[in-house]
Amino acid sequence: SPTILWLRRDLRLSDHPALVAAIGRGGPVIPVFIRDGQVDDMGAAPKWRLGLSLDDLAKRFEEKGSRLIFRSGEALDVLLKLVEETGATAVHWSRLYDSRSIDRDSKVKSALKDTGIEAVSHEGHVLHEPWTVETGTGGFYKVYTPYWKAVKDRDVPEPEATPSTVPAPDTWPSSETLEAWALGTSMRRGADVVARYVSVGEEAARGRLGSFMGHGIHSYSDERDRPDHDGTSRLSQHLALGEIGIRTVWHAAYRQLHDKGGAGPETFLKELVWRDFAWHLIHHTPHIRDTAWREEWAEFPWQKDNAEATKWKRGLTGEPIVDAGMRELYVTGYMHNRVRMIVASYLTKHLMTSWRVGHDWFEDCLVDHDPASNALGWQWSAGSGPDATPYFRVFNPQTQAEKFDPDGVYRKRWLDVDASDEAAAFYDAIPESWGLSPDDAYPERMIGLKEGRQRALDAYEDFKN
Ligand code: FAD
Repeated sequence: SPTILWLRRDLRLSDHPALVAAIGRGGPVIPVFIRDGQVDDMGAAPKWRLGLSLDDLAKRFEEKGSRLIFRSGEALDVLLKLVEETGATAVHWSRLYDSRSIDRDSKVKSALKDTGIEAVSHEGHVLHEPWTVETGTGGFYKVYTPYWKAVKDRDVPEPEATPSTVPAPDTWPSSETLEAWALGTSMRRGADVVARYVSVGEEAARGRLGSFMGHGIHSYSDERDRPDHDGTSRLSQHLALGEIGIRTVWHAAYRQLHDKGGAGPETFLKELVWRDFAWHLIHHTPHIRDTAWREEWAEFPWQKDNAEATKWKRGLTGEPIVDAGMRELYVTGYMHNRVRMIVASYLTKHLMTSWRVGHDWFEDCLVDHDPASNALGWQWSAGSGPDATPYFRVFNPQTQAEKFDPDGVYRKRWLDVDASDEAAAFYDAIPESWGLSPDDAYPERMIGLKEGRQRALDAYEDFKN
């Protein structure tokens, strides 16, 4: 009898325990992606990017003699209807760990079980599931370094092989179409521009992993902080949607560590564990996404969205490294990690604006948007999060730029319209309503660096007292 494979953030065929288990039941497998409320609520760029991923995955299933079915509605209703239409006796999926997914999935699980359907969820989205990593006293981790020590020597299961075929049913249930879903319509910016910079699908992800393992990983610890260099893996957009399995990435890096040693592979493994740590925290403290993780920080006098924050979003602060980062984000849907930290510090400290404003803008713009890493990254930068950088540590964007973009290559790439296609592409991507032209003079600083720093520190002193 058929098995339904319900896909969510696991849009691949390799390293896929749920897919292997579904095939292992012996009958036909019906892969389905459901456009439910969670999909509708995604930010514009990640939702658009999801559409590209689904299109690619549908082709991959076809190559395996299968089909990806698209349905919309509440997940439970859709699954019950599909079970009825197809005579399926089981539904399998990969687990997620944020509260909205957990609520949805546990309702689905118990309702399916009540009707006698086998409902099985699988590991695979993280290296170690949030409840399997416990402190000595049985609690969860709030600090990264002890978390890393707790997991670094743990076994990670070897990835499952890609199935050679995916058994098809005699007749396929009907499917909606991606075209009709139009997942890209909320992109206010030129999707055609952003499309030049994204890399989509499992094959691209594996290619990127292969080339990074061949070269980049060995210089990763020296290069990872340099936005002017191509020093990181650029796997985040693939990992966010599960176009590549985290176990695959872990084992590839682990082999490099074992074969060649050096600081690069270990530093890279540590970054993969930051991703897991973010899912650990969003599982144990779901409020990390919505309110100050440290309760007392809810009282901090952050400003809500405001005119200066709008300039920040548009790359018009007059602070070159900040504006370069915000334009990179707008044009490519990606921003280098070092620059993410700089722009986040600038917004929450120099502009005294709530991390939520930045968090929501990133959620709307990032093609690698990940609910757990984004929430952790913002609360870390703002000082309100677990294991956060203290509020009084205000990044000086100018010194950061001199250190990590010493020749100004990154800033030129995103700001110098005469010299760089990428800088010019910003003006193709933005909506007309912003009223900007490449001929505009580069803006004056909105706020002096010293003045902004002092204002943030004074507010912090008041808050503490
Ligand atoms: P690499 O340096 O090659 O790292 C490999 C992988 O490790 C990444 O793909 C990612 O999965 C993981 N990783 C690396 N650094 C981190 C980190 N600091 N936290 C969690 N995981 C990490 N990452 C996202 O994937 N999605 C987000 O929405 C996101 N929002 C962020 C917001 C802020 C304010 C900050 C400071 C960081 C955010 N990050 C986010 C983390 C980090 O910036 C990106 O993961 C990284 O820049 C992706 O580039 P890469 O794939 O080349 O990373």
